[in-house]
Amino acid sequence: MDGECPVCGRAFDSVSVHEGGLMVNLLANERYRRVCLDPGEREETPVIEFYHHTHAQTALGTEPSRAEPQS
Ligand SMILES: [Zn+2]
Repeated sequence: MDGECPVCGRAFDSVSVHEGGLMVNLLANERYRRVCLDPGEREETPVIEFYHHTHAQTALGTEPSRAEPQS
């Protein structure tokens, strides 16, 4: 799945879809630096999509056409 994260506009490595609660802990995660959460719907079921960004993807950060919200 290629594309851009709908939250931050960066490329993402993978996306996962969750219907229920879950725990996210990216402290010292070797592969992923950030996960953006985007609420949505899949076949009328409310879900949350998790867009996983690697360290490299969050470090690129020089897309001039996009604002980069920091904190
Ligand atoms: Zn993102």
